[in-house]
Amino acid sequence: MRSCQCPWLWEACSRMWQPSVCTWWGPSGERRLELPSPSAFTRLVEFIKLSSEDDIVNLGQGFPDFPPPAFAVEAFQHAVSGDFMLNQYTTAFGYPPLTRILASFFGKLLGQEINPRKNVLVTVGAYGALFTAFQALVDEGDEVIIIEPFFDCYEPMTLMAGGRPVFVSLKPSPTRDGELDSCSDWQLDPVELASKFTSRTKALILNTPSNPLGKVFSRAELELVASLCQQHDVVCIADEVYQWLVYDGYQHVSIASLPGMWDRTLTIGSAGKTFSATGWKVGWVLGPGRLLKHLHTVHQNSIFHCPTQAQAAVAESFEWEQLHFGQPSSYFVQFQQASQRSRDHVMRSLQVVGLRPIIPQGSYFLITDISELKSKMPDLPGATDEPYDSRFVKWMIKNKGLGAIPVSIFYSAPHRKHFDHYIRICFVKDESTLQAMDKKLQKWKDELGP
Ligand code: PMP
Repeated sequence: MRSCQCPWLWEACSRMWQPSVCTWWGPSGERRLELPSPSAFTRLVEFIKLSSEDDIVNLGQGFPDFPPPAFAVEAFQHAVSGDFMLNQYTTAFGYPPLTRILASFFGKLLGQEINPRKNVLVTVGAYGALFTAFQALVDEGDEVIIIEPFFDCYEPMTLMAGGRPVFVSLKPSPTRDGELDSCSDWQLDPVELASKFTSRTKALILNTPSNPLGKVFSRAELELVASLCQQHDVVCIADEVYQWLVYDGYQHVSIASLPGMWDRTLTIGSAGKTFSATGWKVGWVLGPGRLLKHLHTVHQNSIFHCPTQAQAAVAESFEWEQLHFGQPSSYFVQFQQASQRSRDHVMRSLQVVGLRPIIPQGSYFLITDISELKSKMPDLPGATDEPYDSRFVKWMIKNKGLGAIPVSIFYSAPHRKHFDHYIRICFVKDESTLQAMDKKLQKWKDELGP
């Protein structure tokens, strides 16, 4: 037992300090848990709140501000007004028509015979899938390799399971004069990555296409990760929620489809991202029975099962998509094309004021370099240890009416200072939002002068 060094010190409690998570007991003996510093998620919520105020063009939070496709909305209407039994509980690990179609749809893509009962779990969004995976597989002291910049919840989810996050950053290569950088220039150093694997490594989390960078890992990069996971007997948690949004002819490759990887990979997807319906909160995990059985145990004893009607709507939406898949009428094709147009629009517009976008290969997001603007910026208020990008975004929201998210949020504390000159923009937005953005950027440009 050591005294607690957590910043939320609270009088009259007995405390136990662990390196990563602080657990202590309040006056009535209740157990409390805090992460050691304000987590990325806490900081993200702060910026989402600021970006949501009236008159702010919200390019911060990752959700489409246009309706889901008509077939998906109709599917939800059928689920609500059709069979009254859809108002009741269903099978714990997933509504059978949904687990069946997930198994057949993804079975073909992954080259696997997927058993809907043993190899599929339906969860409360991909968030629920990630949480269940961490709780089921990560034990006290286990190490989890996280590639930076990372989707913000990976670090707290590792800590809450008692694990230790081990970070490795994608390194940008030097800028080519005049040309925009691409996120494909952000790469893992193979030697550094290999050095992160130890006898305590339990899992590596891989997000492709990635949030916030928009990187689509190439087959060669995935083969490197796969061979290290196999060499060290490590589980790969593959967060592939943006798999349908890949641009410029790049290909999404699921790491579970590489030789030897199905048996050690959990592949996570999201109906919210798939059908532009983030509020439905239906996600899934696919994987081998030897791993899935542990997730089933966690799920059965926490959530038990997800809302039946939302699952029925997702099942019917997949049935629709399956009939069109690979054809021009496919929603995955049409949504990808529309998102690439929005991406190109946003990239062009940002450059008007001297922001330099890093071309994303996939996802809802791009990050843009803010360093060229620095010389034209006023002194920004804020604490001296507050990263520059964070102060920049607060200034931009207040003075320019544009909401974004500082990229340093997506880094571990020691690496944050090296990546404090980028901001994340969500471009999967309605045409009217993009036009409102253009107006704000044009005004900003006029204020900058020649
Ligand atoms: N993974 C990534 C990389 C994400 O960006 C998100 C949503 N922002 C999620 C998982 C969570 O998805 P869901 O909304 O289905 O819970």
